[in-house]
Amino acid sequence: MTIRAAEDEIVLEGLAIARGVAIGVVFPHDAGTIKVPERRIETDQVEAECARFAEAVASAGRQVEQLQEKAVDLGGAAAEEMGYLLDAYRQMLKGSRLTRGVQHRIAEKLLNAEAAVQQEISEIVRGFEAMEDAYLAARVADIKDIGRRLLRSLTHTPYRPFTDLPRNAVILADEMTPADTALLDPRRVAGLATVVGGAESHTAIMARSLGLPTVLGVSGLLRGLHGGEPIIVDGTGGLVVINPSPETMGRYRKKRADCLRARRALARLRDVPAETRDGTRILLQANMELPAEVAAVLESGAEGIGLLRSEFMYMNRDDVPSEDEQYHLLRELIERLGGRRLTVRTFDAGGDKLAPALGCSIGPNPALGLRAIRLGLARPELLETQLSAILRASAHGPVRILIPMVATVEELRMARKMMESALARLTAAGIPVSDPPPPLGAMIEIPGAALAADALAVEADFFAIGTNDLTQYTLAIDRSDEAVAHLFNPLHPAVLRLIQFSADAAAKAGIPLCVCGEMAGDPRYTALLLGLGIRDLSMSTNNLPMVKQRIHTIDQSAAEICARAVMAESDSARIAMLVDTCDADGRCEI
Ligand code: PEP
Ligand code: MG
Repeated sequence: MTIRAAEDEIVLEGLAIARGVAIGVVFPHDAGTIKVPERRIETDQVEAECARFAEAVASAGRQVEQLQEKAVDLGGAAAEEMGYLLDAYRQMLKGSRLTRGVQHRIAEKLLNAEAAVQQEISEIVRGFEAMEDAYLAARVADIKDIGRRLLRSLTHTPYRPFTDLPRNAVILADEMTPADTALLDPRRVAGLATVVGGAESHTAIMARSLGLPTVLGVSGLLRGLHGGEPIIVDGTGGLVVINPSPETMGRYRKKRADCLRARRALARLRDVPAETRDGTRILLQANMELPAEVAAVLESGAEGIGLLRSEFMYMNRDDVPSEDEQYHLLRELIERLGGRRLTVRTFDAGGDKLAPALGCSIGPNPALGLRAIRLGLARPELLETQLSAILRASAHGPVRILIPMVATVEELRMARKMMESALARLTAAGIPVSDPPPPLGAMIEIPGAALAADALAVEADFFAIGTNDLTQYTLAIDRSDEAVAHLFNPLHPAVLRLIQFSADAAAKAGIPLCVCGEMAGDPRYTALLLGLGIRDLSMSTNNLPMVKQRIHTIDQSAAEICARAVMAESDSARIAMLVDTCDADGRCEI
């Protein structure tokens, strides 16, 4: 929704993703140059090349559809105008001159799909430019945009790496993939806002990890912007202000100063143990995506890394890291952790985290497709390499291995078998590995796994509950779709029961359990999780001090009473009220 606050000032609403205030200048993120390979193909490759092109067309079509849905929210003439434009995009992707031309170049000129797209686009653009018609000249940009979408999809190129940024750049984009977001350097980027994206998407998680004030799901965000306009991103309130008035600017400068002051105050808790008022000790660990985050992890006072999302080691590159490369990276990380425990999750690529080198495809339904352990078992050479690297690294400090997206006991058994054969190979070669070898755990993030947690607990050495996927799959809410973000609710009784069931199964089997989804990093839920018996939380580094502060205000026995009341309730709204009552004192609004 657009709110016009003052002359020139435009306030746009979206989802509040990562707290804080960014004040800077607009940097619209476009595709930039894409390296386009050109090669001749054989006649028997024509069909496969056309199929790749068809997949790229389908993917670009999905992007345009998403943008179209968002455009409706603009309302009035703007919605109409955007609607026409996006309709034109759709037409271009259907049986148009563009698609026919590309198919012709593949089939007759025996060109690879990327080169065929590039050549066809260039020819159409040349034709339009020669017409000297203002309307058609404007269409040139649209054709180029469609061409870039197709090329990005065909070449698996993320949006442009972020070079030559102005000071305090605020990145604005239609969409950012998690891999794109991983390229942002918080020292150079002040904030982020996009048109498309849900609150629990990996893009959102990455933005929180980087500590970038972020708002996603903002309709009409890029309309009329060229770059360089002054902008404010209010990641706490979910607002984007373009061309802020002097009053607005003054208000936000103060808000930003308050934020920084509150952060500095929280930083003083770094070396204070996380203990409830009545002395229950809670283990607070950090989630980590990129090795560069380790300094922030140590700075936050985290007692270990409860979730290393190792898939990010495979992104933004064309090849798979070798065993040696992975080993050295992990070894360095373990050494920096100085005795704190590292839990490495084996790659969870697929879904919204595409790592082309791993060969994960988008598929008809990425969230339900070949991702995580399924991909690892389908490509055992990749998983074995990773397991060997982790085992070798375990000689240098405490390590656990965590298997993502486990649905069946069999998957865990197969992963263990693989780990054991890697172990045997390393031992035979005289390569040191920790003794005993690292514990092997299962992520509980599929409802079926939670319901079978008692059986899984017999096979697993520990559990880690991933509340993001558990909520997504239990409620059938796509975590990365802003259109259903308001329905994403970890307080739904079904989700809470699955958490409770898993926690009880772990306690009965005597295995440790950690919660590492975004729920763990939200102080609003801390009392409830403690009340459910959870003593180990892993979260985005930036949230850790707030959760610790919250823990200091909690009385464990009161939290248990609160949790019992919550679990007896079946209405989500009542549950939310109960949770907020538990929360009354210790809330920390930054
Ligand atoms: C989760 O699903 O809650 C989780 C921690 O894993 P990811 O967010 O990486 O899917
Ligand atoms: Mg998950």
